[in-house]
Amino acid sequence: MAASAAVSALPALAGTVEARGSLADFIWFRTGGPAEWLVRPADTADLARFLAALDPGIPVLPVGVGSNLIVRDGGVPGVVVRLPKAFARVVAEPDYRVRAGGAAMGITVASAARDAGIAGLEFLRGIPGTVGGAARMNAGAYGRDASDILIEATLVLRDGSVERWDAARFGYTYRHSDVPAGAVVVEAVFQGRPGDPKAIGAEMDRIAAEREASQPLRSRTGGSTFKNPDGHKAWQLVDAAGCRGLRRGDAQVSEKHTNFLLNLDKASSADIEALGEDVRARVKAQSGVELEWEIQRVGVAK
Ligand SMILES: Cc1cc2nc3c(=O)[nH]c(=O)nc-3n(C[C@H](O)[C@H](O)[C@H](O)COP(=O)(O)OP(=O)(O)OC[C@H]3O[C@@H](n4cnc5c(N)ncnc54)[C@H](O)[C@@H]3O)c2cc1C
Repeated sequence: MAASAAVSALPALAGTVEARGSLADFIWFRTGGPAEWLVRPADTADLARFLAALDPGIPVLPVGVGSNLIVRDGGVPGVVVRLPKAFARVVAEPDYRVRAGGAAMGITVASAARDAGIAGLEFLRGIPGTVGGAARMNAGAYGRDASDILIEATLVLRDGSVERWDAARFGYTYRHSDVPAGAVVVEAVFQGRPGDPKAIGAEMDRIAAEREASQPLRSRTGGSTFKNPDGHKAWQLVDAAGCRGLRRGDAQVSEKHTNFLLNLDKASSADIEALGEDVRARVKAQSGVELEWEIQRVGVAK
């Protein structure tokens, strides 16, 4: 990866900056090259100051836990922002609302809501990503998604300005939002409704068990690979095209859930992405449908 022109002049940060910071250490596929600079801000003001002072020509990519990411093998040029624990606070508020930091995991939000007798957020139990990733991806399951529960969120834009967005500004559609490139969601407020903690807990357990039975949760994977096209289920199209178990090197289409790709051991990101393209071509040939990637592919090839 060629160094960005002005990275030697990165602005000061109270948090940490790591040159060639490993992403493969934590993203779900465990593949791909490093971030040119991996930045963990201390708090929102720290991130805002840093981005305001950063050369506008340097790209910025926020990441959560990489549960919907392929990081290409040449790594990610510029700055990758990873929100640390300081951004993982979750608090129940009056009127059945939950305020959560951008780094909080979905299961933590769902659990806090349960403990406070707030129903409606159970589906977050099944999504193994952060609040920031869920707000950006409009993550969802069981007929609900982030757009159904998000009231407002705080974003630090690429130029360092801090904005509070109401839900309408996100322009949510299926697995899509209008969050602009380089903007970091640092906090979100979700709306629930009154509920019985025992019933909420039972629903979360049901979701966990169903996931365990139907998804390769213990594998190196990237979640749903393709968006469900209108009127279709991506997994059915992949299956019908004969791709169940299809391999390319150590990359494989999951036998358990055909819309998941796996890194069996030593796959590269190039193997995984090429397998995905192979699946798209086979589905197109078999059904005429063009699958659209849901997994975000970032960085440069080696
Ligand atoms: C086993 C498994 C099951 C899954 N099940 C589901 C499911 O049922 N429904 C579903 O919708 N998804 C599912 N996913 C996919 C994934 O969990 C979601 O897309 C999740 O919202 C991604 O969160 P993340 O924090 O890991 O984001 P990442 O994968 O790190 O990033 C995804 C995108 O969000 C952006 N992003 C991340 N953090 C921020 C932030 N703070 N501010 C702005 N942008 C940000 C990134 O730039 C990238 O574009 C599953 C994944 C796995 C591995």
